[in-house]
Amino acid sequence: MFLSFEGIDGCGKSTQARLLAEALRAEGRDVVLTREPGGSEGAEEIRRLLVEGAGERWSAETECLLFTAARRDHLERVIRPALAGGKIVITDRFADSTRIYQGATRGDLRMMVDRLHELTIAVEPDRTFVIDIDPATALARGNARGGKEDRFESLGLQFQQRLAAGFRALAQEYPGRVRLVDGSGSVGDVAARVRAAL
Ligand code: C5P
Repeated sequence: MFLSFEGIDGCGKSTQARLLAEALRAEGRDVVLTREPGGSEGAEEIRRLLVEGAGERWSAETECLLFTAARRDHLERVIRPALAGGKIVITDRFADSTRIYQGATRGDLRMMVDRLHELTIAVEPDRTFVIDIDPATALARGNARGGKEDRFESLGLQFQQRLAAGFRALAQEYPGRVRLVDGSGSVGDVAARVRAAL
C-alpha cells in the first residue's frame, strides 16, 4: 500500500505522516516513512540544490525537471523496492506537490508536469491525504516551528493561498484517491480524520 500526504507548508502533514506510520507499526505492519523532495541518497542531494539559494535560482521548467529527477531516484531506490517487499510506504509529498507547486503556481507548466510524470514516474499512491488548512494559520505554525525558512517558504501568504486552492482542486480532479482532511484543531483531531479517510 502506497500512501502520500500533501498540502501547503506548515499544514502539519509531516507530523500526520509520522503519526500514521507509528499507529500502523503499533498494529504490527511494516512501514517505510519517507519524504520528498528527497527520500533517497541521490534525491536528498537534489533537494539541497532545490531548496538552497536565492528565490529564482532555477527557472520553473528546470525546477520541474529537478523535482522529477529526484522523484525518479526516490521511486527506484526506496519506494518500489519497499512496495515489492510488501511494505506500506508513506511519503510526505509526492507527484501532487509538483502538479501544484510547479504545474499551477510557477507558470502554467501543468502539461509539462503531466507528460514528465507519465514518461518517468507513472505511479500514483493508493490514497493521498491533503491536509487542508487556512494559509494564515499554516504560516503562523511554520514560523512558530522556528526552523530555517527555505526559499519556497519565504514566498509569503498570497503564494500559499494559491497553493491551498490548487491542493483543494486536486480532490475534485482525483476523487477516488485524494481525500481532503480538515487540518484544523489538535494534532489528535487531525490524526483521527486521517485514520477515517484511510
Ligand atoms: O515539504 P518540505 O517543506 O520538506 O518541502 C521543501 C520545500 O520545497 C517546501 O518549501 C515546498 O514548498 C517546496 N516544494 C516545491 N515543489 C515540490 C515539492 C516541494 O516547491 N514539488
